[in-house]
Amino acid sequence: MPGEFDLIAQYFTRPARRAILGVGDDAALIALRPGFETVVSTDMLVEGTHFLPGTDAARLGHKTLAVNLSDLAAMGAQPLYATLALSLPRVDDGWLADFSRGFFALADAHGVDLIGGDTTRGALNLCVTVIGEVPAGTAIRRSGARAGDDIWVSGSLGDAALGLAHLQGKLTLPDAAAMQAIERLEAPLPRVALGLALRGLASAMLDLSDGLAGDVAHLARASGLAARIDVEALPVSPQLAAVLQVLALDQRVRFMAGGGDDYELCFTAPLANRDAVRAAGASTGVPVTKIGRMTAPESAPGAVLIVDEDGNRCAPTVSGFDHFEKCA
Ligand code: ADP
Ligand code: MG
Repeated sequence: MPGEFDLIAQYFTRPARRAILGVGDDAALIALRPGFETVVSTDMLVEGTHFLPGTDAARLGHKTLAVNLSDLAAMGAQPLYATLALSLPRVDDGWLADFSRGFFALADAHGVDLIGGDTTRGALNLCVTVIGEVPAGTAIRRSGARAGDDIWVSGSLGDAALGLAHLQGKLTLPDAAAMQAIERLEAPLPRVALGLALRGLASAMLDLSDGLAGDVAHLARASGLAARIDVEALPVSPQLAAVLQVLALDQRVRFMAGGGDDYELCFTAPLANRDAVRAAGASTGVPVTKIGRMTAPESAPGAVLIVDEDGNRCAPTVSGFDHFEKCA
C-alpha cells in the first residue's frame, strides 16, 4: 500500500504556478506584499487518530492551534492569523467553552487572530489553517542543509510518546513523570520564538511531529543528503531521565526517535554558527542540543543512521509515523 507521502506526491503535488514554495515543506510560501513572504500551513486533528477520546477540551483547543504554530515556527515565521474548521458530534456547551478557552489562550500568547472557519456536525475533527509572515528570502526550508552541518534539536524528545504509552497502559510511569509526559503529549509548546531567532543561522529546519528518525529523513531527502545521529546525544527531560535510563537501548530509541508528537524544532546549521545557535536557545529560554551531522549520501538521499557511542548502528531501525503504513 502506498504511504501517506507517496499518496501526497502522486495525487496532490503539482508544480506551483504562483507560489514561491508549494507542497512538501512544513508550510507554503506565497508573495502577497513586497519585501515579505506569507507562510501558510494546515493541520488536522482527528479523534481516535491524533488524540484519545475524552481528552481534556481546553488542552485539545491548545493543541489544535499548537501543532499548526509549530509548522510556522519550523519556517522561522511570525504567526498572524488562523482559521478553524470544526466538525462536532453534538453541541456540548461546557466542552466548547473549554476548547475555545484553550485555543484563545495560545492564540493570545502569540498575537494570532482567529479570522474565520467552518462548523458542521460529524465525527470530532479539528482543522486549523495558520498564516504567518517572513521577510522575503528568510524562511528556513527543509532543503537548505549542507554536508558537514550540525543537526540540532530543541527541548527534549520522547516525552509525548511515553505519555501516550502510559495512557494506553503499555507502561506505567511514576506519577510526576506521567504528569510531565502527558502534558507534553496534550499541550505541546510551539517553539515560535526559537524559530524566529534561528533565521539567518539555521540552514534547514522542520518540526518533529512524526518522530525524529522519519522527520530527519524528510529534511535529508529534501537537502539531497544523509544524516548521522548520535543516540547518546538525544536530549531527555529531567523528569523522564530515570524512566528512559532503565529501558533497553532499542526501546529508548523507539520512544526518542520513533515516537511522534514531540513538536520540537530540528534544524541544521554550519559549524561556524554553534555559539550563535546556543545564544538563540539561551535568549528564547529553550534548550538546544547538537545531536548529529549531515553527511553526503552513500546511495539515495534521505538515509538516517542512528549510532551508539562506539559508532555502531542502533537496531532495530526506527522510521517515522505514516498514516497509511505501519510504524516500523
Ligand atoms: P507537516 O507534518 O509538516 O504538517 P505533512 O507531513 O502533514 O507536513 O505533509 C507533508 C507536505 O504535504 C506538506 O507540505 C503538506 O502541506 C502537504 N500536503 C499534505 N496533504 C496534502 C493535500 N491533501 N494536498 C496538498 N498538499 C498536501
Ligand atoms: Mg511540520
